[in-house]
Amino acid sequence: MTAGTALWADRPWAPRSDAPPPRTGVLVVGGGITGLVAAIDLVARGVAVTVLEAGAAGSGASGRAFGSIALGCTATPGALTARHGAERALRMWRESSDAAGVFAGYLAELGLDAGFHRAGHVRVAVHRGQEEDIRAQYRQWRRLLPQEELRLAGGDELAAEFPGAGFRLGLVDERSASVDPYRLLGGLVAHFQERGGVYVEHARAEKILRQGNGFTVRHPAGETTAEHVVVATNGHTDGLLPRLGRRVYPVGSYMIATAALPPDSRAALSRRTVTTAHVRKNYFRLTGEGRLVYGGRLNLATGLTPAQVKTRLHNSMLGYFPALADVEVTHAWGGRLGFTFDQVPHLGTDDGVHYAVGYCGRGLPMAVHLGRQVARRVLGLPVETTFADTPFPTRWYFRRTPWFLPPTATAHRLRDLARRR
Ligand SMILES: Cc1cc2nc3c(=O)[nH]c(=O)nc-3n(C[C@H](O)[C@H](O)[C@H](O)COP(=O)(O)OP(=O)(O)OC[C@H]3O[C@@H](n4cnc5c(N)ncnc54)[C@H](O)[C@@H]3O)c2cc1C
Repeated sequence: MTAGTALWADRPWAPRSDAPPPRTGVLVVGGGITGLVAAIDLVARGVAVTVLEAGAAGSGASGRAFGSIALGCTATPGALTARHGAERALRMWRESSDAAGVFAGYLAELGLDAGFHRAGHVRVAVHRGQEEDIRAQYRQWRRLLPQEELRLAGGDELAAEFPGAGFRLGLVDERSASVDPYRLLGGLVAHFQERGGVYVEHARAEKILRQGNGFTVRHPAGETTAEHVVVATNGHTDGLLPRLGRRVYPVGSYMIATAALPPDSRAALSRRTVTTAHVRKNYFRLTGEGRLVYGGRLNLATGLTPAQVKTRLHNSMLGYFPALADVEVTHAWGGRLGFTFDQVPHLGTDDGVHYAVGYCGRGLPMAVHLGRQVARRVLGLPVETTFADTPFPTRWYFRRTPWFLPPTATAHRLRDLARRR
């Protein structure tokens, strides 16, 4: 299990520790952003809601994320079209991009201060072999997202924003933003509890049993009966719902944070979020307090130690910023992304249990969006998403362990090497 304390937890908050009640209206399994957003919309309608969180609040991906609120989704438009047809693919693509706006609107609606900062995002070509990829993405995005402010940035502009990094070409979108995910989660927990919600830490749902018109959920403190159950476990999905456990697999994602940069380096760097055009991409951003936060998926598997993460990501970071060699790396951590085999999220109902999972690394905006939608499903309202009730593929070779990830990471590395010219 990946450990390491996220930079964001330097300013910890502690939720009130509630006891699980014997009975509740809706029981939500998973106390990350999806579960809490759903729970908040339900308590706002007067429903009694209990959230069970297996670990400490913030120990899942929602408390550990990089914090990018970006446009688009993980599946390429081509892959979406091949699977879902052009019309549905376009709706999925636009909905994923609109989730950034849904996210910003939600923070405003709840009055949450989560360090939201809109400085745009840029995907950069590091090698000449990646430039055509950036141009092709630009042409495609202009067709798919005509309403967005998108443009290409040349090497000179990028050199002014990221001196010394050697970026050759970038696709800039001005609407993307960043957020402190842990602070967001703390705000959500507080909001939920203030409105009478029950948030139980260290309470793993062990079994969901159907009983009459409702459910009984077993957990370490006993049992809770509920009229409805929502599963919001994303990259921590296991065999609790066997069908889901065979359709969502965990992918490791890792981060380091430096100490505050020297004033000169800090003043020179743009606050855009940046992603490299590698298949095995890296991403980074400057935080409000002047630290560089740098991440990547490394071997895709979960379970690298903080020491391994620190060494690998630090070396990678110095490839772009050799001048930061003397700046201390103060934090190294990782977490679990929830991936699906069609690389899109899924909202659905399995034998009466509702779920929203599988954000494939784009979960901050989509967890807010689909968290709200799964609450609508519980309330019996029509859901407003293209990601509901679509065919949810599995693979015969995946049971419990995603053994295929390290070989996939090697294949990605070879593809990146082939474009390194
Ligand atoms: C290092 C890292 C960087 C990331 N960066 C970004 C980014 O920049 N932008 C972006 O959009 N997304 C990013 N993500 C992804 C994003 O964080 C997730 O998609 C999102 O937080 C998912 O929220 P969630 O609530 O669905 O899942 P989680 O936050 O993972 O919460 C699920 C929770 O379910 C709990 N759980 C599991 N099983 C049980 C059980 N049986 N009983 C009770 N509880 C259970 C887990 O303990 C966990 O806390 C990143 C993720 C990581 C790890």
